[in-house]
Amino acid sequence: CGIVGYIGNKNTQSVLVEGLKKLEYRGYDSAGIAVFTPEGLQITKALGRLANLEAKLEGAPLVGNAGIGHTRWATHGKPSDENSHPHTDESQKFSVVHNGIIENYLELKDELMAEGHTFTSETDTEVISHLIAREYDGDIVKAVQKVITLMRGAFALGVLTEYEPEKLVAVRQASPLIIGVGEGENFIGSDIPAILEHTRNVYILNDGEMAVLTHDAVELMTIEGNFISREMIHVDWDA
Ligand code: GLU
Repeated sequence: CGIVGYIGNKNTQSVLVEGLKKLEYRGYDSAGIAVFTPEGLQITKALGRLANLEAKLEGAPLVGNAGIGHTRWATHGKPSDENSHPHTDESQKFSVVHNGIIENYLELKDELMAEGHTFTSETDTEVISHLIAREYDGDIVKAVQKVITLMRGAFALGVLTEYEPEKLVAVRQASPLIIGVGEGENFIGSDIPAILEHTRNVYILNDGEMAVLTHDAVELMTIEGNFISREMIHVDWDA
């Protein structure tokens, strides 16, 4: 129900967890984060309050320069560690957080299982990470754009791949998502309070739009890949 994403040189784990705390008002039953560590993309998730996730991370912190975080309000699959986001695929090279519902996920799951994919959760979301892995051909933006054409429903997505660790991809289709623009760092969030501690410069994504974030730049485009120029909003209120 809440998404946060970060690419930059601060303590990624803490940017994500503190951002998720600001989204607690949206309600949730579990939480998780994925971070690019020197050992690769690592995921920690926990049923229940953010304090449970923090307790797990205290024993094994995730250190890196990019990550995505999620608070889940279960729609498909019971609240559990396994069903919490981020989700990945067999290769564990891709990581996805998702707000919303993929209406045709059963169809897509059947298709993927027939192709030999194995699933570790009961969520609609897990099909997204497998589809991205299947469609990936060296360009994460293209893979995400292809996968969007296969899905029906509502989604805000944050996507990372170990193959392109300098990029964070965000998509909005009928679930809210904003982009925070910093200096040498950039953010995504379900809502402005998630990132307000770090920057007041924000782009609001509209339905059918996506963003590609690196440390130093944010590119906005339609999900068909047409670049968009948009005025940045300066937020002058406090959360
Ligand atoms: N439908 C997804 C799930 O049940 C995402 C729910 C959410 O928006 O938190 O895992």
